[in-house]
Amino acid sequence: MSQKKDNFGIEKILKNLGISTENNGVSTGGNYFANGDFLESYSPTDGQLIAKVKTANTQDYQKVVETAKAAFKEFRMIPAPKRGELVRQFGLKLREYKDDLGKLVSYEMGKSLQEGLGEVQEMIDICDFAVGLSRQLHGYTMHSERPGHRMYEQYHPLGIVGIISAFNFPVAVWSWNTALALICGNVTIWKPSEKTPLCGIACQNILSEVLKENNLPEGISSMIVGDHEIGDQLVKDKNVALVSFTGSTKVGRIVGKNVAERFGKSILELGGNNAIIITENADLDMSIIGAVFGAVGTAGQRCTSTRRLIIHESVYDEVKNRLAKAYGQLKIGNPLDENNHVGPLIDKDAVNQYLNSIEKCKAEGGKFAVEGGVLDGEQYESGCYVKPCIAEVENSYEIVQHETFAPILYIMKYKNLEEAIEIQNDVPQGLSSAIMTQNLREAELFLSQAGSDCGIANVNIGTSGAEIGGAFGGEKETGGGRESGSDVWKYYMRRQTNTINYTTSLPLAQGIKFDL
Ligand code: NAD
Repeated sequence: MSQKKDNFGIEKILKNLGISTENNGVSTGGNYFANGDFLESYSPTDGQLIAKVKTANTQDYQKVVETAKAAFKEFRMIPAPKRGELVRQFGLKLREYKDDLGKLVSYEMGKSLQEGLGEVQEMIDICDFAVGLSRQLHGYTMHSERPGHRMYEQYHPLGIVGIISAFNFPVAVWSWNTALALICGNVTIWKPSEKTPLCGIACQNILSEVLKENNLPEGISSMIVGDHEIGDQLVKDKNVALVSFTGSTKVGRIVGKNVAERFGKSILELGGNNAIIITENADLDMSIIGAVFGAVGTAGQRCTSTRRLIIHESVYDEVKNRLAKAYGQLKIGNPLDENNHVGPLIDKDAVNQYLNSIEKCKAEGGKFAVEGGVLDGEQYESGCYVKPCIAEVENSYEIVQHETFAPILYIMKYKNLEEAIEIQNDVPQGLSSAIMTQNLREAELFLSQAGSDCGIANVNIGTSGAEIGGAFGGEKETGGGRESGSDVWKYYMRRQTNTINYTTSLPLAQGIKFDL
């Protein structure tokens, strides 16, 4: 590992989280092993090599699955509230490690320190949510049409839940899935993004500590570091009852098909193309803050980032000018420095995609109100820092229909709200949406069945970010999956309908007679 500099005390953070400069990237809870190639994790903040991780090969994967299968037989018999107790302890442990884990998220992924810590807070919140839920997991009781019969439904665990996650939420997405999967009695196998493997090891270490302290067997929570090949193996494995996939629509399309082919269950959390409608009745101060934070926060690398602003023609120029002024004040730089608003993109591939999208936008006729570009100079030596930009476009441009995972904001005009809602819905994705208005009629139309077609629709807050209490996910090419709060736990269980006859006769349903 390069010993160039250690500006952020990362060596100490890695040590506290049980990560060394060379790691094995497969764990079933205790010991680590791995027999694949080495993967190197570089920080987009300063371009330094953080550590190496050995990836999983096919045999390693098989070992993980066999261990998980055995663990499930034991784990499913533990009462749900006791499984909740484990998740409670996990939440406490996360509180202890919050600072170190938040810093690692920020350093390995490149989001701001505040957002890194916020991600860990989301992990803690989902644990709290899951603990309460572990005393519910309730089904309905129905009236039977037959005398002396009782009908009810109950929920059972599925078995192995496979979690494949994206780089941009390297820890929170895993915890959303894991906390629910565990209270529901499942065991999990997680493949973190190959761009953030160290966050994966850190999380696995924290949960393993809890499982060990409770004398539980290996295989309840496993992790495998690897790329699409090991991901593909997991997706096609009939031992994996549910695949919870978070990533791009392009990969999700392949994953969804492969899981469906073997009649497995899937949760697909894919790309977004999120818009805010700013009406003539909007509070413009709030609108500008919501739009800027939504578009440049996490350098535009949130699935819920604001990509499009649909602005009423009467306030269009004012909004455009105020946005341009706000963009002029943005501080771009190291995300661990709290004075900066915008950090780097994840890697140089992402920078190239950003540049390509700008070119395509210009070729289609887009006019840039705020120009983009790649930043250079010593503080930008990783080559991953870009300027957030704003382009005036038509919604029908091919590039506007597409999710570019970077801080490019498209702005466009509308005349009446019906038209604005049509524009908002006229993209292939359906994740998050928002309207800024102080007019009740406008807000309610936007939320009605004739309004936004997205999984998330907000009034007077932006598109990005969500609380764990609600179901999170989106429609259309966003995949239709839901994670986190509300009754999402049902995805992680199988429903069984039970009928009990407590009489001495056997009446058949629908009045059918079958005399012998
Ligand atoms: P990605 O699709 O490139 O990769 C996601 C994961 O899929 C990685 O772990 C990768 O190794 C794995 N993978 C790749 N090919 C695979 C295959 N054939 N089979 C199985 N697994 C495979 O996505 P990314 O660049 O890491 O993340 C950005 C994308 O994720 C964006 O599109 C973003 O909108 C989306 N995202 C969506 C949500 C949501 O909740 N809707 C949340 C976060 C990110």
